[in-house]
Amino acid sequence: MAASNGGAPLVVFDFDKTIVDCDSDNWVVDALGATGRFDELLRHLPWNHAIDAMMGELHAEGRTAEDVRACLRAAPLSPHVAAAIRSAHARGCELRVLSDANAFFIDAVLAHHGLAGYFAGTDTNPAHVDPAGRLRIRPYHEFAAPAPGHGCALPSCPPNMCKGKVMERILLQEEEAAAAARRRRRVVVYLGDGRGDYCPSLKLREGDYVMPRAGYPVCDLIAASPPAAAVRGWDGFEDLARVLLGIVDAEIARAVAEQGDAAAATTNVVVPDCRALPLPLPARQEAALLPQAVRVPN
Ligand SMILES: [Mg+2]
Repeated sequence: MAASNGGAPLVVFDFDKTIVDCDSDNWVVDALGATGRFDELLRHLPWNHAIDAMMGELHAEGRTAEDVRACLRAAPLSPHVAAAIRSAHARGCELRVLSDANAFFIDAVLAHHGLAGYFAGTDTNPAHVDPAGRLRIRPYHEFAAPAPGHGCALPSCPPNMCKGKVMERILLQEEEAAAAARRRRRVVVYLGDGRGDYCPSLKLREGDYVMPRAGYPVCDLIAASPPAAAVRGWDGFEDLARVLLGIVDAEIARAVAEQGDAAAATTNVVVPDCRALPLPLPARQEAALLPQAVRVPN
């Protein structure tokens, strides 16, 4: 349980190349020696369908879900990222994952590194192991006809997942919670690297932050058409930790200063000398009714 802290932002992490320093789909496929066949599947299928088909082929060859999990335990995850996650949580931040990987891969990595308990939720492509032991990966937004798909027109959003739609839902929940508690909406910080991270960045508002990974595709999109949120780039995972915790600390300090100002405004009310004030109207009327002093000639 995070420490309660009114100014601590909600921090939303992309997963591939943000929490782990790899694309987890490619990592698993490469580790299981199926790179060429995956490339072939991608010639005919959208990515999300191709990784599901790839898991089917591997299962048919006798590879188990546990084999996949074992690959994921070896995926590179910087100690600076793990430290940033723990430190942000300790400062009172709520943490979420918003990823176009899948629930099985993300859960396997976070559990292995002891990080699962720091996250309040994950929005990603659903996955499960079916009764035959085959890992199934489904799209977050069903898009095969007759499903309508996510409806976002941005070309940077893949057909199976518009992270912007998810961010809209997160922001709406934040606004509703803030209204119910009669407080300002929490600041949101979003970290990502890929083209799919551009749409959620655009949904953030002034006062929020987007943290793009320097030199990665989301940076070009942000440079061409910046979001309303403040942009704070990071270059390497030590820098990710420094930039993120800098934002968190600054926002907490700002909230503390605002609380101090509000308290001062209520306790430092200047009480004027009441004798200098004009009497309120009923008191004036009462004074008029008092017996007047009789002037006595000397
Ligand atoms: Mg990514």
